[in-house]
Amino acid sequence: MKVFFQSRLLFLLLFIAVWTASAHLVSAAEIKIGNSLNELNATNKTSIYIDYSDKIAPNSIVDKQDEFRPFSEANPSGNISSASYWIKLPLTNMSSSEKELLLEIKKPHLSSVTLYREVAGKLIEEDTIGYSLPFNDRKIKHKNLLFPITLEKDGEQVYFLKIKTDTFFQAPIVLWDPISFSTDNYFTQTANGIYFGVMIAMIIYNTFLFFSLKEKTYLYYIFFVIGFTVMQLIWDGYAYQFLWGDSPWWALRSNSFFIIFTSLFALQFTKHFLQVKTAALWLYKLTNWILAVFCLSLLAPLMFAPSLSTMISTVVATIFVFYIIAVAIIVRAHSREAKYYFAAWGLLVLGVVLNLLAAYKILPLNHFTLISPKIGALVEVFILSLGLADKIKRISLEKEQETKKYYIQSMLHNSYKNMEAMEETPALIESGLTVLQDVTKYENALFLEREEEGWSVYAHKGNAIQTDKWNVSEEFMDNPQFMTNIRNNPFGIQNDIHSLISIPIKAAKKEGLFVVFNEQEGELQTFEANIITESFADHFQHILTKLENYQNLKVSAMFDHLTNLYNRKYFFEQITDLYQITASLNDSSSLFLIDIDHFKNVNDTYGHMTGDKAIIFVANIIHNICHNSGIIGRYGGEEFIVFLPNTSHNQAKTIAEQLVLAMQDQAMELEFGGSLPLTISIGISSGETSKTSLHQLILNADAALYQAKAQGRNQAVVFMKEAKKPV
Ligand code: GH3
Ligand code: MG
Ligand code: MG
Repeated sequence: MKVFFQSRLLFLLLFIAVWTASAHLVSAAEIKIGNSLNELNATNKTSIYIDYSDKIAPNSIVDKQDEFRPFSEANPSGNISSASYWIKLPLTNMSSSEKELLLEIKKPHLSSVTLYREVAGKLIEEDTIGYSLPFNDRKIKHKNLLFPITLEKDGEQVYFLKIKTDTFFQAPIVLWDPISFSTDNYFTQTANGIYFGVMIAMIIYNTFLFFSLKEKTYLYYIFFVIGFTVMQLIWDGYAYQFLWGDSPWWALRSNSFFIIFTSLFALQFTKHFLQVKTAALWLYKLTNWILAVFCLSLLAPLMFAPSLSTMISTVVATIFVFYIIAVAIIVRAHSREAKYYFAAWGLLVLGVVLNLLAAYKILPLNHFTLISPKIGALVEVFILSLGLADKIKRISLEKEQETKKYYIQSMLHNSYKNMEAMEETPALIESGLTVLQDVTKYENALFLEREEEGWSVYAHKGNAIQTDKWNVSEEFMDNPQFMTNIRNNPFGIQNDIHSLISIPIKAAKKEGLFVVFNEQEGELQTFEANIITESFADHFQHILTKLENYQNLKVSAMFDHLTNLYNRKYFFEQITDLYQITASLNDSSSLFLIDIDHFKNVNDTYGHMTGDKAIIFVANIIHNICHNSGIIGRYGGEEFIVFLPNTSHNQAKTIAEQLVLAMQDQAMELEFGGSLPLTISIGISSGETSKTSLHQLILNADAALYQAKAQGRNQAVVFMKEAKKPV
């Protein structure tokens, strides 16, 4: 994890091996300080000796000068050990005057750094600074480690640095002209000020969002950004300068703690933001295990030595990096949030890569490439925040749609319930129009019915519709349609139409099209229209079909299937009510019992089929003559009954004789040629309805019929009291 001390960012991890391996091999030589020195990168001009025993006294180091190796050859970067690193800086002042210099170690995280000056084979300690000592004890109160140095004119001076670290060893040494340092420092501090200012603003802004939206993904995001910011404050040395400069114990551990803290919340955020659970359940479970491990690791910096916790935090950060790579492969940038997510991390990596390329001198090392990782980090945090806002917006939109959907569905279902109870087609279609109008909030609703001659309006609600001729193209009968911004009005409607819904209905008896339209733009959205059309098309068709079946059943319960006259049961139901009404009016009514003469012969001679046709033939004649004056029923096999309300026996007799004559006049055509003459006998009974019961009336008619048969058939006989008892 040397990477994030070099570039201050986690993601350099993978590149560090290359970085260190390719460092320029410049042999240790004396470091010449000329007149024009502004900034001198001295690291590779130094030599180093590592005292693994950590026991060699400063003055004995002077004797080990032969064992010092050029820094670049020794390549000690990245070690964690309890060793003392001795660095030798032989400085030569080439200028003609005394020189004030600043020696800066650009990494703030070293535990202790002591500067020695070699004087006559002895080492004289100048100063000791580092994380293991309080910040306020520093002579130069700067986030990095700074030592003031004075070189005498034309003089040579050898300096030694003794470095101890509890984390990774890194010692980029720079010699500065103090004025150049302060100029450079001004830029760095300003840039960092802006950077951290924006980060803090992002934290505050998103905290407000969290409190107003109560969405926990925001909370994870905020903790992630806090961790990320503190981590960089630590890497830049600001945390030690401003936050915990008095607590060396914590200063040595804070880095590990915040690396784990940041990884933990970045992971938690990723899990929720990318909805890993829906993407892959196994990955979700794995994520939870990793989270548990990260949570436990958070205790490590508090429990173990800084060197061990640094290693643990390195492992945690590495796991996180691989996790992100794995998620990128598995989840891919399919969803909107995934696009935001990978764009965000991608730009951070880009920032880091730019910085690396500059470090390798492939790109110019300027202010931009120097701070590109920070720009990348800012952009990352910013894009994630945008992605989060976008996601929350979509979630709330979905919730809103869910509510609307629920409202529409419950409205439709309530009306379906009412429709189920309806017994008449017109009422059903009316209520279909009403619910469509209510649910769409469109002004006009109509039901177009297909008839033989074309289309016509069966029912209509709303404004008057102007049209010359209904013109429904077949595509409207295939599927429901939702149209807005209509230019060419369909169906020949001449009204202004902006939006329109059409729903085709095909039942056994009725085929039609519901059309709801609005002259202005309505509020109905496509998803709502789809819910309405899908639900209504299905349900209405179903309800209409059920109603048709019910009506069929009702009809077959009323009518005799052969003759289409009322059947005996329904005839008597009708008659009984009617009889009571006529009784209250003190009217007289009449009744016919009609029987076909010698019908057995018909059956015997021509067969039952022809017999049936003959029954239908007679029924039709009875219907033609009697349907205006009476109610007709099929009484039995080839017997019919006619009730004639408000009809005297004279009037009844006239009608009956008409009937007998009509039968005589018309013969039934036979299928195989020829015709079949049929005659009937009629028994007529009449009476004041209030005095004679229906039962009596039938008995009387039966007696008269008997008489008609006895008198030779083919005649109508009126029941007379005298002829009461037929023999
Ligand atoms: P009558 O002049 O005395 O009435 O002589 P008839 O042969 O018509 O005698 P009746 O009225 O008793 O005969 C009824 C016959 O009608 C008996 C039966 O075979 C026949 N029949 C009854 N219902 C049907 C039917 O639905 N279809 C056919 N084909 N024949 C029927
Ligand atoms: Mg009979
Ligand atoms: Mg008969």
